[in-house]
Amino acid sequence: MKRLILFGAPGSGKGTMGDFIQRDFHYTKISTGDILRSAIQQDSAEGRQAKNFMEAGSLVPDELVTELVRQRLGCSDLGGSRGGYVLDGYPRTLAQAKALSDIASENEKAIFIEVTEAEAVERLLSRLTCSDCGAIYNLKTKPPHKADICDFCGGRVDRRTDDNEEAVRQRFRVYAERTMPVIEYYDRRNVLERVDGAGAAGRVYEKIKGLIA
Ligand code: ADP
Ligand code: ZN
Repeated sequence: MKRLILFGAPGSGKGTMGDFIQRDFHYTKISTGDILRSAIQQDSAEGRQAKNFMEAGSLVPDELVTELVRQRLGCSDLGGSRGGYVLDGYPRTLAQAKALSDIASENEKAIFIEVTEAEAVERLLSRLTCSDCGAIYNLKTKPPHKADICDFCGGRVDRRTDDNEEAVRQRFRVYAERTMPVIEYYDRRNVLERVDGAGAAGRVYEKIKGLIA
């Protein structure tokens, strides 16, 4: 089983690239942000534990997120994923990286999508997402065809509750303090590729595609 890990600041395009990779390579995309948001929507015990952390832009406790990833990786439908999965948003701390290598050691590659903070913030503050399927839109560059309605599932398209200036600032702080060391850790193990994430999603994806095939 191949494991691809997407790294990058909030707004760097991890989710969008993960969707493209899932579509073209039939890898299963595992996004901890999506899993947590759906837990909150379902008002599960995990969702109730995660909610305040997420709204503030802080990290959800390692044990909670790792348990969700462990469950997801145990699902039998991973077998249908043509031999691979792509992680979006995990691991985000060194403790999570350690936990991940304990869950399963796979043939792995990490891709670091680099964007300037200014570009990422600009994207986050004009981003819209479908609250049902997680599809990603942009108020300026890629609005849904019908206002507020998801092109794919008909769900409600809205701004994420953590895409406001204060939570975004906190997410960047957490990213620099907790996640940059994880990226350095993968770099030292020589499994990290860097990709310039500026500009149109399709162009960025072309570069990433070349690294996976
Ligand atoms: P972004 O990368 O744009 O910040 P995500 O959807 O990946 O957005 O994550 C949103 C929020 O979900 C994070 O700010 C955090 O609260 C929580 N979260 C997601 N993944 C993790 C993780 N691996 N560890 C801890 N918290 C996480
Ligand atoms: Zn949708």
